[in-house]
Amino acid sequence: MALTDVPGLGPKSAESLKAGGITNPAELMAASLADIEIMGISRSIGKKLRESVTSLFPDIYGDFIEEQSLEDIEGIGPTTAKALREKGMNIHLLETTPVRELEEKYGLTSNSAIKYQSALTDARGGFFTDALTFRDKVASTPAFTFGAESLDQLFSITEYQTQGIRAGESYEFFGSFRSGKSQLCHQLCVTVQLPRELGGLGRKAIYVDTEGTFSPSRITQMATRLKAELGWDKPVEKILQDIQYARSKNSDMQMGIASKILELLGEAPQEYGILIVDSVTAHFRAEYAGRGTLAERQQTLNHHLSILHRVADTYGLAVVVTNQVQANPAQFFGDPTTAVGGNIMGHWATHRCYLRKSKGEKRVIRIYDSPVLGELEGVFEITEEGVLTSTE
Ligand code: ADP
Ligand code: MG
Repeated sequence: MALTDVPGLGPKSAESLKAGGITNPAELMAASLADIEIMGISRSIGKKLRESVTSLFPDIYGDFIEEQSLEDIEGIGPTTAKALREKGMNIHLLETTPVRELEEKYGLTSNSAIKYQSALTDARGGFFTDALTFRDKVASTPAFTFGAESLDQLFSITEYQTQGIRAGESYEFFGSFRSGKSQLCHQLCVTVQLPRELGGLGRKAIYVDTEGTFSPSRITQMATRLKAELGWDKPVEKILQDIQYARSKNSDMQMGIASKILELLGEAPQEYGILIVDSVTAHFRAEYAGRGTLAERQQTLNHHLSILHRVADTYGLAVVVTNQVQANPAQFFGDPTTAVGGNIMGHWATHRCYLRKSKGEKRVIRIYDSPVLGELEGVFEITEEGVLTSTE
């Protein structure tokens, strides 16, 4: 069927769409409204055209759910929507951004910001849900494998019947150098891409590298092992392509990258499954070295961490950060190391995990603080093939 057979779609619009690579109704349904807009068809017209296609083919598109966009909120017209979009705002972010920031950064009055946010809250049924409904929602949150059985088991939640890393939750891996933090992060960038039936989410990864230790060849080794073991047919090049990499060279750049991620995900809210920041504290620690700068460092770090939470809350990505440890001279017994970042870091992650090197290739990971996981330990190994299970 030709584009011009869609009621309301004239030859001129059809030409514009064709120039953008949309040649038939199916492609029109699969595109994003943002893409269609770039081709010169406004979002509202784009939506009308898709309604026409839906009514032409109710059997195929009866369940089609149109993307929500800023214009769908009462009181937001095309001009406001355009201005907000130019500043990086989208409908997902509008709900999770604090009113003060909507005023200062996006130029809304506090009255309109509050009005729009309550419209969004009403649309999803208000602030409250009962605990049973909430439990079902939490239980249905997908999780994905570490690619190592011992770790999946350590992170299994019997009540929800999930294993591994949960979407929408935050994780901190802290430990001294060579304890395996970056290796875990690398492997998660691969396993998140596994299809659901092989234990993944079938989604892409974002890796923010602050120490310059990211290694595509390590990804290749890990991917090769998982492909062989699980019979996974995604080409290694495609696996590498589906990891968005950013190198942050200082704390300001790191904060800039985080804000950009928050914006960019609005265009692809379902595409990504994990955001990794390895390591989240290194720049802050190095740049704010003197004693007098501690308060300022903590304040800035706090802001950065809140943006990372917003990524998890807004788009349902798992957010994994690594953190270094420092010697704690006040502790005489046991392991004399504490995580960097003090209380601010200490309260950030839903699941805090401590990694340490053991004999040879073995590493021990301890759940240090988690609302649902016990204080248990697991063992894994790091070999040429990646992060592997270990039973000892
Ligand atoms: P950190 O906790 O400092 O981020 P890493 O996660 O980078 O530490 O772990 C580094 C360790 O991983 C190395 O000391 C080495 O034992 C192991 N490792 C890294 N690459 C390989 C490889 N290709 N083959 C075997 N072991 C490796
Ligand atoms: Mg590292």
